[in-house]
Amino acid sequence: MSAIYLDYNATTPIAPEVLEAMLPWLREHHGNPGSAHAPGRYAARAVAEARASVAALIGADPAEIVFTGCATEADNLAVLGVAAASGGRHLVVSAIEHPAVLEPALELRRRGWGLTVLPVDSTGRVDPAAVAAALQPGTVLVSVMHANNEVGTIQPVGEIAAITRARGVTLHTDAAQSVGKLPVDVNVLGVDLLTIAGHKFYAPKGIGALYVRAGTRLAPVTYGGGQERGVRPGTENVASIVALGAAARLAMRDQATVTARLRALRDGLHARLQAVIPGLRLNGHPVERLPNTLHVSFPRVSGRVLLSTVEDRISASVGSTCHSEHDQVSGVLAAMGVEAAAAAGAVRLSVGTPTTEAEVGEAASALAATWRGLTAAVS
Ligand code: PLP
Repeated sequence: MSAIYLDYNATTPIAPEVLEAMLPWLREHHGNPGSAHAPGRYAARAVAEARASVAALIGADPAEIVFTGCATEADNLAVLGVAAASGGRHLVVSAIEHPAVLEPALELRRRGWGLTVLPVDSTGRVDPAAVAAALQPGTVLVSVMHANNEVGTIQPVGEIAAITRARGVTLHTDAAQSVGKLPVDVNVLGVDLLTIAGHKFYAPKGIGALYVRAGTRLAPVTYGGGQERGVRPGTENVASIVALGAAARLAMRDQATVTARLRALRDGLHARLQAVIPGLRLNGHPVERLPNTLHVSFPRVSGRVLLSTVEDRISASVGSTCHSEHDQVSGVLAAMGVEAAAAAGAVRLSVGTPTTEAEVGEAASALAATWRGLTAAVS
């Protein structure tokens, strides 16, 4: 029997419809979208269709979508590309950004840029007033993620956008975790740049996109043949781009029901665990949170030990996938002021569209029994 997968924030399987859409582009069609002949034109048409689907999912114009190799690349392009295109010297990021945003921001600091790292409150939220206070005459970019990958907290991006717009500062949001789980509209959010990750919503790994609002100044960080309007050159990954388009159409079709269903499954898992584990603590915002994400601290155990003990029955993470090998406290929990004991017992359980009620019930029983066994052993 295979383990119950509760790590959909780490990655999702490819949806059957998405696989069907991409397979002909691996098996039969091999044209380069840049070629003038019929196979090339056919591939270019497929890329254009996918671009239109991705744009429709987030309320953008197709010309504003730049396909990238992954969300990390889209984040790097946003941070380094705005920096390279601007005459400014200062940027602002939140303390709980994914390394794909934090690391290029730190690299800019090493190159002499000013960097303000915004704190978050105990629920993981940035205060828009802190954004306003951080802006300086030389500030060119603010990057605050839409939803956090570990605790799921959703940021007040619309309120932040009202501030950055009034001050003429470009706003980027990393929406790798929210696209496909929540309605995401670039005009409702008011952002200039937005990162999308294919493998977080049932497209394959190795495909992402950056939304670039018309008029946003963005320089390339790689140079080549001029594809993707010159900001992300390189022959297009047609099969994966087609897959991303299919995933976007699927997300649009199912959006309303998916959000409600994920929330019901996630809340069911939480209620079951709460009923049998006294002192279980919820991390992240109680309401403004990804509908599929349950980040909890189990009392008196190490989350890592708990998950390794129950590994044959449940696949989940202690926090972000990037840090799962180490016992160190996650930077996100540290920024939220979660005390060491609670941080040590933290586990991230994230459900997805394939998750069933039965899986949730079994997972809750297995986690509770394992926790009881571990705490009985130490008391
Ligand atoms: N941004 C966020 C919020 C993420 O959760 C992830 C992946 O975990 C990334 C960026 C990077 O995605 P990828 O590894 O596909 O480049």
